[in-house]
This record gives sequence, C-alpha cells and structure tokens, in this order.
Amino acid sequence: MGLVTRFAPSPTGPLHLGHAYSALLAHDMARAAGGTFLLRIEDTDTARARPEWEARIFDDLRWLGLTWPQPVLRQSEHLARYDRTLDELAARGLIYPCSCTRADIRAALSAPQEGVAAPPPYPGTCRHRPISDRKPGDALRLNLGRAIAALPGGLGGFTDTGPVHPGGHALSEELLAATQGDAVLGRKEIGTVSYVLASVLDDAMQEVTHVIRGADLFEITFLQVLLQKLLHLPTPTYHHHRLIRDEAGKRLAKRDDARAIARYRADGADPADIRRMVGLPPARDPAP
Ligand code: GLU
Repeated sequence: MGLVTRFAPSPTGPLHLGHAYSALLAHDMARAAGGTFLLRIEDTDTARARPEWEARIFDDLRWLGLTWPQPVLRQSEHLARYDRTLDELAARGLIYPCSCTRADIRAALSAPQEGVAAPPPYPGTCRHRPISDRKPGDALRLNLGRAIAALPGGLGGFTDTGPVHPGGHALSEELLAATQGDAVLGRKEIGTVSYVLASVLDDAMQEVTHVIRGADLFEITFLQVLLQKLLHLPTPTYHHHRLIRDEAGKRLAKRDDARAIARYRADGADPADIRRMVGLPPARDPAP
C-alpha cells in the first residue's frame, strides 16, 4: 500500500480551518507518494461524540475534494478490541485501577488541547492497588515505572518530519515522567478507552505509516510510542504540523464556530479559497 496517512477527527463539533489543514495535508502527502489517505472516526468519548457531527465531517471533507476508502473505521464499533488490550496490559501488571477525581480522569481521557493547562503528572495515589481491586467508576492507569522496566532493551523513539519538532526524538524515563506520568488508558465499565490507546491500536491495525497531525499532539506521542513498544506494534513516522491560529494568535478550537468550514461554505467560499487560507498550494489533480 506504500505510504498510508490518516485524518482521525473526533465528532464532537464542527470542523474548522485547522482540521481542514490537517486533512488536506495528510491527503496531499498520500496522493503525492501514490499512497493511501484514510479517514477514521474517533468517537470513543461517548459523552461528547454525536452522529450529526460525524455526518457533517463527511460532508465537509467531500466538499474539500477529499476521497478515502470505505468502510470508514468508527472506533465506537471496536470497543471490545480495545478492551482486550486493556485486559492484556492488566494481565501483565502494567495498569492499575484509580479512583482519584473524576474531573482529572475525564480530562485525561480526551485529546489534549493547547491553551488548556495539562494536568500535572498523576501523583500515584492508587498505584499500589491490584487490578483485582477494580471498582465501578475506576479509571485504568498505566504504571509508568513498570512499563519502563518491562522494556529493558530501551524505550526507542520516533522521527518527526514536520517543521515544528523536526528530527529524531529518543524517549527517556525523565521525559515520560515529566510529561505523561501514570496516564489514564481507560475506564472500562462504560466501555471507554482513552483516545491515546485506541489511536495507537488503530494506527497499527490500519498500517498507517505517517501520522500527520497538529503540533498540539506532539507530547502525547511520547506515550503513544511507549505503548507501541509495550504492545510490539510498529512506530510510524510522525509529522506534527503548525497550528492554524485566529487573528489573536490563538489556536482554533471546535467551539470557534466562526472558523467552521460550514461557515465559509455558507459565505460562498470554495475549496481553493480554503487551501489558500491555510497556506496550501492548489490541488494538484482531481482525486482518482
Ligand atoms: N481524534 C483526535 C482529535 O480529534 C486526533 C487524533 C490524532 O490525530 O492522533 O483531536
């Protein structure tokens, strides 16, 4: 299949210019290399994901001129598969149940957002608890110390071909402890897996070779590469791109309806205008 890229939105709001940039870039890079561009719907956050948003994502991306193979992987249809990995990690003694504040746990389950202060690494209050002690409502956290000890051959690293953090990045215990700590990987009883784990499993299953996404997800890559190592999955090449900002220099968020693709469409813009606005060259050729 050659080079495989993907755009993996969470259907929790309208796509804005930042999403358009990410999707177009991933699409252009795959097309330029004669590879494949995949669309994946990351709807494991059941409290926020909505089918209406998913339908609008398909519509906006088609309007932008993108095409992708069917069927589209929808993560909510694969919860049992993610659960099996949580079971495997539990059997290996690498995760533990945690009952520390729900607000913290909820924040840790969704993809990080620039501008929203990252919670400090978890202090390890529940680290002593065995998995057999799991109670309804508990989160499942990675025991980072044990995970590192389980990789005596080294933690590895990844290559970033993007302009923001170019080059090779080696993982280290210090880096992981300072940025990730004992990360939340799931909250099993409601079939919720964290974005971070589901995304790693699907990138591997879909044989994604290049992960193209915003630089706000750069630090989460440390954790994702660690999970790949632990689960014997290949590490793709990463390409963290610049973020599209509003006039005030703030990163666009889902709630910024003013920059929603739908708004530009309603105002009469065409896909070439959107490409221009995000600084991409005109489409090379019609999608095959
Ligand atoms: N689903 C994540 C989001 O919408 C992006 C995941 C990724 O590209 O790795 O923020």
